[in-house]
Amino acid sequence: MSEKNTSRYDVIIAGGGITGLTLACALKSTGLRIGVIDQREPQAFAKDYALRVSAINRASLEVFNAVGAFERMQQLRVSPFREMHVWDSTGVGQIHFDSAELGLDTLGCIIENNVIQLALQAVVQQSETIDWLCPAEIDSLDTSDVQKQVRLTDGSTLTAQLIVGADGANSVVRKAMGIELVRKSYQQQAIVCTVATEYEHQQTAWQCFLPSGPLALLPLADGSCSIVWSLDETRVEQMMALDDAAFSEKLGESFEYRLGWIKTVSTRAVFPLGHGHVDHYVQQGLALIGDAAHNIHPLAGQGANLGIMDAACLADVIADALQAQRQWNAFHTLRKYERRRKGDNRLMETTMTGFKYLFGNNNPFLTEMRNIGLNAVDHAGPIKQIFINQALGEQ
Ligand SMILES: Cc1cc2nc3c(=O)[nH]c(=O)nc-3n(C[C@H](O)[C@H](O)[C@H](O)COP(=O)(O)OP(=O)(O)OC[C@H]3O[C@@H](n4cnc5c(N)ncnc54)[C@H](O)[C@@H]3O)c2cc1C
Repeated sequence: MSEKNTSRYDVIIAGGGITGLTLACALKSTGLRIGVIDQREPQAFAKDYALRVSAINRASLEVFNAVGAFERMQQLRVSPFREMHVWDSTGVGQIHFDSAELGLDTLGCIIENNVIQLALQAVVQQSETIDWLCPAEIDSLDTSDVQKQVRLTDGSTLTAQLIVGADGANSVVRKAMGIELVRKSYQQQAIVCTVATEYEHQQTAWQCFLPSGPLALLPLADGSCSIVWSLDETRVEQMMALDDAAFSEKLGESFEYRLGWIKTVSTRAVFPLGHGHVDHYVQQGLALIGDAAHNIHPLAGQGANLGIMDAACLADVIADALQAQRQWNAFHTLRKYERRRKGDNRLMETTMTGFKYLFGNNNPFLTEMRNIGLNAVDHAGPIKQIFINQALGEQ
């Protein structure tokens, strides 16, 4: 643990993933003493692309910029994307977004999760008021008092006036709050890996809706792509059993050879997919952000973006309360954060689940309707603008 460590904090952030670290950085100028706890360091930066990448929208990039972390991300490695191309493999429906048509330089950036974490962590470690407590595993919490307590597995205890659960889908903080997240499985898993393609990716994020699940190719700065291929669990098992050549062939075929042949250039990893949303984000001195509060399907690349917005919003609410000399960790203050974020998060969860079932269905009527729908959206200015705003993270 850091030498700056004391056992008393104003804020303890449980979890130093993307959302926990964003919150710490966003709170750094409040003067509050903050401890960020994580059980493991982010994966070190390497020459080869990490398998976990995220499509980060413009609104989230602005947050990274505002907290002073985006420049460090750029120094490490980011991959801007300028276009998005989405189509239905069973018909002729398609939709296309071009940053040039919107007068923007990019739609967002594909960034490795560890690059995001390392850049945010560097900001945290430069701060006099934030301790990076890692490796340290949270065992349990005592939330009965005004001063909340976090017990670590090494036996030590930390106290704070506010504990924020940014500790992911299996959040210990959420359990201590007695809040249940009913996580519904999609009975699907996502295969991720890095691939080379015959034709250039054109800085375009490609997504093909197959009846078996969505397949995304996300453009990386060196010309390769990161794939996220969602499939039923049994299909995942079959695909993972294939050697690289056979897997690459299946991938190219499923992608309709839109970028020519595809060749895997990394190992493959599998992630379970589910969705869920808690009913309450906050209690007196306690709050949940990111995956600890909501899980969605990665088909629109929004989970991390929602968590980043949660973090920015919670930091704003706390900073406003401090400025107005109101009780910054009180239930009624934290409720403002919940009210501002819950609607957006729930809408995204419901929309993604709807998309998943709509596009994962072979019913001829639905097939026809979704093709008509995609083309209609592509040609209808105001409706397309709503989709664009969602993709950019703007309301
Ligand atoms: C295949 C796939 C592709 C995705 N693609 C995208 C995308 O393109 N764009 C996008 O926006 N989102 C994407 N997502 C979603 C995104 O990855 C998650 O929403 C995001 O990483 C959640 O971040 P988090 O910080 O809330 O939680 P996590 O990343 O789960 O971080 C939680 C942290 O808490 C720590 N922790 C947990 N328990 C303890 C404990 N007891 N003690 C100490 N530390 C603890 C963990 O070590 C971890 O570092 C994707 C998800 C998947 C599965």
